[in-house]
Order: sequence, then structure tokens, then C-alpha cells
Amino acid sequence: MNGTLEGKVALVTGSSRGIGRAIAFELARRGADVVINYRHSAAAAEEAVAAIRAIGRRAEAIRADVSQAEEAAALIDAARRHFGGLHIVVNNAGITRDDLLMRMREEAWEEVLRVDLTAVFHVCKAAIRPLMRQRWGRIINIGSVSGLMGQAGQTNYAAAKAGLIGFSKSLAREVGSRGITVNVVAPGFIPTDMTREVAEEMQQAIKALIPLQRFGRAEEVAHAVAFLASEEAAYITGAVLTVDGGLSM
Ligand code: NDP
Repeated sequence: MNGTLEGKVALVTGSSRGIGRAIAFELARRGADVVINYRHSAAAAEEAVAAIRAIGRRAEAIRADVSQAEEAAALIDAARRHFGGLHIVVNNAGITRDDLLMRMREEAWEEVLRVDLTAVFHVCKAAIRPLMRQRWGRIINIGSVSGLMGQAGQTNYAAAKAGLIGFSKSLAREVGSRGITVNVVAPGFIPTDMTREVAEEMQQAIKALIPLQRFGRAEEVAHAVAFLASEEAAYITGAVLTVDGGLSM
């Protein structure tokens, strides 16, 4: 698989840690130059850059809160300037603010919708013209099984992730004639900083529902994203690819 993304420039939002970092590294391993994006974790982002440079690819870390329109637009501009183009956009940045609906504060609703859904609108809007002009592009949005199945305590998050699917399918229809594909990768339970707060009993209850009987690894999500970013996936658009050990089937 090495080299299949050679000559491509990729941007992965929220790639200082967790799944985003694994995606950035996998795209680089397959030959892409990569823009790492982060909001707070500057040191972790620089480490991710160093790991990519160590395998001989170009990488750059750019700070931007992608939930802010101007920062998302500046990120796309900077990414294009750094490496002279942009081909692959992975919207991975995400947060959770879990609570039962009866207790959920409006800020928790707003914040999750802003980072997990509105940010994808901002990033795609800023990137779409250049992608259309070059008549080649891959947009991969990271959803969640919560957006497919629902999850108690995640009305905000599940709404954002379900919304992402409608957004992605609509955009896929808008840009299909320009050689751009838009797909969703929906992971199941992947141990990262995000899942650290999930109570142990809840983790065991979820594991019991997974046909493959284990949690997934960030690298396993990254492989699915890298495939959808490749030339080989040219005829796949508007799809939702679950990487969840069978949890949502
Ligand atoms: P982590 O909490 O480990 O990492 C989140 C990343 O997103 C960090 O790099 C963080 O940057 C970045 N980020 C958060 N908010 C912003 C923002 N406003 N602007 C820019 N970057 C931001 O999460 P995961 O790796 O677990 O999750 C990655 C994606 O996968 C998310 O979309 C999540 O919803 C999805 N997902 C995760 C699952 C799991 O089980 N882990 C399951 C299903 C989906 P910084 O370090 O600077 O804070």
C-alpha cells in the first residue's frame, strides 16, 4: 500500500491526538504530505509532525478552532500555501459533552453541534472551490455509530453525527461531477482520550454487544479512511463505512 497517496496533500482536523493522529500518520505512510490541525495541544501536534517527518513525508502543524468560520478558512488557506495544494480533507475534530437530555445544558448542546457538525460545514465550504477547480478531491467525515444507533446520554452528539451523514450525502451529490467523493467513516468504540470518561461498567456493557468482542484501534479507523482517500475508492461516494466490530449491524 505504500506510495498510493504520493503527490497528494491531506488535511486532518483534530489530528494532535487519538484517531485523527492515527489517520494523519497512515495517510503519510501511504505517501501523502499532511497538515496536522489542533486547537489546544500544540506539543502533541508537534510530536505528530515529527513522527511523520521521520518517515520522510512533509508535515506541518496549524492551530485553528475549526468551529469558527474565519479560523477554518484560514486553516484551508494555510494548508494550501504550505504544500502548494490540497487534495484530501478529513473532518475528524470532535468533542463529547454527554448528559441525559433532562439534565443537558443548552451550552452542551450548542458546543457539540458547533464542533461536530458546523465545523464540517466551515471546513468544507472553505475547501470546496479549490477542490472543484482541480477536479479531484476526497472528503472524509468522521461520524460515529452513535449517529446511526443513538446512545443514551448523547442526544447532542448523536444528532451532530447523524446530521453529518445527511450533510455528506448532499455534498456528494453536489460535487460528484467534479471528481470529488464525500464519504463518512463511522467508528464504534475506540479507546482514546474521548472515551476515557466512559464508566468501566458502561464500557463492559458496550463490549458485550460487539460481535468481534473487542474495542477497535485508531489505526483500524485510519486504514478505512486511507482507502477512501485512495484512487482505488474513486467510485465510492455518499457511503457510510462503519468500523465498529459489527456493533451497529
Ligand atoms: P480525542 O478527544 O482523542 O481527540 C480529539 C481531537 O480533536 C484532538 O486532536 C483535538 O485537538 C481536536 N479538536 C477538538 N475540538 C477542536 C476544534 N474546535 N478545532 C480543532 N480541533 C479540535 O477524540 P477521538 O480521537 O476519540 O475522536 C476523533 C473523532 O472520532 C471525533 O470526531 C469523534 O467524534 C469520532 N469518534 C470517536 C470514537 C471513539 O470511540 N473514540 C467513536 C466514534 C467516533 P486538541 O488536542 O488541540 O484539543
